[in-house]
Amino acid sequence: MAVVDRPLQEGMTRRVANFSAPRCESPTAHDGTAMTPRERFLAALHRRPTDRPCVGNCVSAATVALMEASGCFFPDAHLDPATMVGLAATSFEVLGFDTIAPYFSVQLEAAALGCDVDWGRRDMMPDAATHPWQTADDIHIPEDFLSKPPIVALLEGLRRLKVRYGDHVAIVGKVFGPWTLAYHLFGVQDFLMLTLDDPDEVRRILERLMPVPLLFAEAQREAGADVVTLADHATGDLVSGRMYEDLLWPLHCRLARECRAPLILHICGNTADRLDAIARSGLQCFHFESKVPPETARAIAGRRITLMGNVNNPELLLRGTPRQVQAAVERIRAAEIEIIAPECAVPLTTPTANLQAIVEAVR
Ligand SMILES: [Zn+2]
Repeated sequence: MAVVDRPLQEGMTRRVANFSAPRCESPTAHDGTAMTPRERFLAALHRRPTDRPCVGNCVSAATVALMEASGCFFPDAHLDPATMVGLAATSFEVLGFDTIAPYFSVQLEAAALGCDVDWGRRDMMPDAATHPWQTADDIHIPEDFLSKPPIVALLEGLRRLKVRYGDHVAIVGKVFGPWTLAYHLFGVQDFLMLTLDDPDEVRRILERLMPVPLLFAEAQREAGADVVTLADHATGDLVSGRMYEDLLWPLHCRLARECRAPLILHICGNTADRLDAIARSGLQCFHFESKVPPETARAIAGRRITLMGNVNNPELLLRGTPRQVQAAVERIRAAEIEIIAPECAVPLTTPTANLQAIVEAVR
């Protein structure tokens, strides 16, 4: 798939160009708020006061409806910077979020490291079709990792978003942590077996994968990302809190220390049993799912880490009504969660009205 720039399709040019209109009448002008979306997001991220509650996304908010609104579709949006930018901008232009996040899938690093990736369709996320490595010794990070086409595409997308929106909207990058990279490169089943059979080998694997998020996060910061999501799927359902603390937490602490961009850790599932450790990691923010009630998350985390989430995807955003979404937002806001957001990558058939209801609830 081509990652070089190419002429916009007819429909896309028109629609993306149309986005300039609402941008001029941005929320700053519209509702008399005192902060730009970027100022609001960065203030919330650093737990400073905001003019109104912040709404954002740090993982994919792309849907088929937003692809149709922008004329920018999967799978091209994963690898073609112009299409990526057009689709990513809808989170601000159409949904009214304070953020734009152009990395939709979970596969760019995997593709750059040698997995064969099936890039999917407009209604299907990409998936790694092969898992090339078996032992820590197989791990090889190419010296030209940052020049691999999927990596170049994202960095170029971030650069263009920074030019177009960077003064006004928060630009969010994303990297995958060593745990998720191991799922892709070793296979989920095989890697999870290894955590039980040979924890020392797991430690070697995670350690050897660490340069990938370190390098990629810094490159994204340089390309214009205000903040970088660290998605690392040591999820509540698959990995115990004790295993997280033993094997992965020390590496998350290291990423927090060594990355120059502020990091938002994303872990799916019920993470209540590891939230205290996460709050002690030095990471700037934790993005968590609705399996942890917002009051519980706030009580465990205290004021040690910024919290982001936790609007339910499958029941509320996908199948609920705008009114139900607004009720959930009220509860999240009352629990003093700094950044209100969908809990995880938004399902591709989510109705736009339910996503817009998040912002409507806080305006
Ligand atoms: Zn998730």
